Amino acid sequence: MLGQMMKQPLLISSLISHAERYHPEGEIISVLTTGGVEQTNWGKVAESARRLGSALNGLGLSPQARCGTIAWNNRRHLEIYFGTSGAGFVCHTINPRLFADQLIYILNHAADEVLFIDKTFVPLIAAIRDKLEHLKHLVLMSGPDAEATEALPGLVFYDELVASGDAGFDWPDLDENTASSLCYTSGTTGNPKGVLYSHRSTVLHSFGINMADSIAISARDIVMAVVPMFHVNAWGSPYASAMTGARMVLPGPNLDGASLVGLIDRYNVSLALGVPTIWQGLLAAAKKSGSELTSLERTVVGGSACPPSMIATFREDYGVETIHAWGMTEMSPVGSVNKPLAKHGELPEDAQHKLRENQGRPVFGVELEIWDDAGKPLPHDGETQGALVTRGHWILDAYYRSDRDSTLRDGWFDTGDIATMDKDGYITIRDRAKDIIKSGGEWISSVELENIAIAHPDLADAAVIGATHPKWDERPVLIAVKAEGADPSEADILKVFEDQVAKWQVPDRVVFAEELPRNATGKVLKRDLRERFGDVLMQGES
Ligand code: ADP
Repeated sequence: MLGQMMKQPLLISSLISHAERYHPEGEIISVLTTGGVEQTNWGKVAESARRLGSALNGLGLSPQARCGTIAWNNRRHLEIYFGTSGAGFVCHTINPRLFADQLIYILNHAADEVLFIDKTFVPLIAAIRDKLEHLKHLVLMSGPDAEATEALPGLVFYDELVASGDAGFDWPDLDENTASSLCYTSGTTGNPKGVLYSHRSTVLHSFGINMADSIAISARDIVMAVVPMFHVNAWGSPYASAMTGARMVLPGPNLDGASLVGLIDRYNVSLALGVPTIWQGLLAAAKKSGSELTSLERTVVGGSACPPSMIATFREDYGVETIHAWGMTEMSPVGSVNKPLAKHGELPEDAQHKLRENQGRPVFGVELEIWDDAGKPLPHDGETQGALVTRGHWILDAYYRSDRDSTLRDGWFDTGDIATMDKDGYITIRDRAKDIIKSGGEWISSVELENIAIAHPDLADAAVIGATHPKWDERPVLIAVKAEGADPSEADILKVFEDQVAKWQVPDRVVFAEELPRNATGKVLKRDLRERFGDVLMQGES
C-alpha cells in the first residue's frame, strides 16, 4: 500500500468537536416542550453531550446499547444525538405518532435499554412500560418533575443525569463502522424495519449534504429543522449543521404554520427543511399574517413530491429558493437534490423554473439507476420509467437484524419508487411502485395528477388513487379537500387538468373528503384511501 496520508476514523464525535472548537458561540434556539424558548450554543451543547456520554458509561449498559428517544426537536434531543453516538451507543429515534403496538414492537426489536422522553409522552409510555422487555433506564428530558414521577416511578431526570457526568470526558476512539443511530421505516405494510446507520455513513452523508450542489449548509446559515428529529435524523441536518457550525432553530412541539412563521421572523431563519404539508400550513399562515419571510433564503422540501405551485409561491411571493430533494430512511435519507447546472442559465426563465420541479440529481456518494423488471438498466432519456435502484456510501446494506440477501438485488437496493432519469441524471419520481395507476396497458402517475390538482385555488389538499374499473383495471380518482370557504364542483376541479395531461390520464371522478389520512411521517395513506374509495367506479357511475 503506497498511500501515506493519516487515517482518522469518520466519527460523529468529530462533528460536535468541530462545532465546539470553532463555533462555540453559534446559537441554538430551542422551543421547550413545556413552553418558552431557550437559547444555548454549540459550546454548551457539546459540553452536555460529553457529560451525557460519560454518565451513560456509568449506567451499566451493554456495549453499543440502543438508547431510544421519543422527543420533539429541542436542544436536549440534540445533545442526546451526539452524547449517545459519540460515546459508542446507538441513538434510536422513535416516532411518537406510531400506534402503541408498533412502539412496543420497535422498542423490543431494537432492545432499547435507555429511553429518553419529552414530558408530552409520559402518558404514552406509562401505558406501555410493562411491555418493554429490555428497558433499564427511563429518562425524562427535563429537570426534576414530581408529577411525571407519579406516572412513571423510578424516572431519571435528564438534567441530573447530565450534571452527574464528567465535562472532561474524552470521546472514545471507535471504529468508524460502529453503529451510531437507528431509525425504523414507517412500516405502512407489515412490521417496521430498522435501518442502522454507522459513524462513517453519517459523516459521509453530512459531507454529501454540505456540498455546493446539494443542500450546502454553511456557517452563515440559521437552520430550522422542521422535519422531526425522529424522522430519519431530521434528514441529517443536526450533523451537517455541527459540521459547518451553522446556527440552529429547533421548533419544539408546535409545527403549525403560525408558530413556524413566528420562529422564522424572530430568529432570522435562512434555511428550513420539511415535508410539503408543513409548508402548505406555513405559506397559508404567512399570507394571513402578512409576513414576508424576509430572512428565509431557501427551503428544502422532500419526503413527498413538492408541488410545483408551492415552489412558484415561495419564489414569486417570498423570494425563497426551494430545493427539492428525494430520499428515504434506507438512504440516510438524501439521495438526490435539485440544483441547476451552468448550461441551464442560458434557458428562458420559464424553462429554468420548470427544471427545478423534479427531484434532482444524485449527490456524490449515491448512485442511481432505473431498471426494468429483469434488472436491466433502462435509458436515461427522461421518458422511460422503471424501478429506481441505488447503492452508495450511506445506503443500507441490510435491515437491522436481517441479512443482505433479503435486502439487496445484485448489490443494489430497490427504492420501491418508479422514476425517469434524464441524461444529466435528473430524476422524476413518477410514483411509488405500489401507488402507480395501471390503466389498460398504460401507467399513470398519481404524483403528476396531484401536483396539478393542488394548484387549484379551491383545493386545500389532493390525492389520486387507482380505483378499480371494469374495463381498464384501474382508473385515476381524485380525492380532494376543499379550501376553507370554497365550494367547487367536480367539473370545476376537472377543468384544471385540461391541456396539462393527455385526456386518458384525467381522473374519472373527484370525490370530496374532509381531510386526507396521513401516516406518522405526514405521507398520505393511499392504502386507506383505496380501501375507502377503491370501488367508486364500480357503482355504475364511471
Ligand atoms: P422518509 O422517512 O424520508 O420519508 P420513507 O422511507 O418514509 O422516507 O419514504 C421514502 C419515500 O418517500 C420515497 O421512497 C418516495 O416514495 C417518497 N419521497 C421522498 N421524497 C420524495 C420526493 N421529493 N418526491 C416524491 N416522493 C418522495
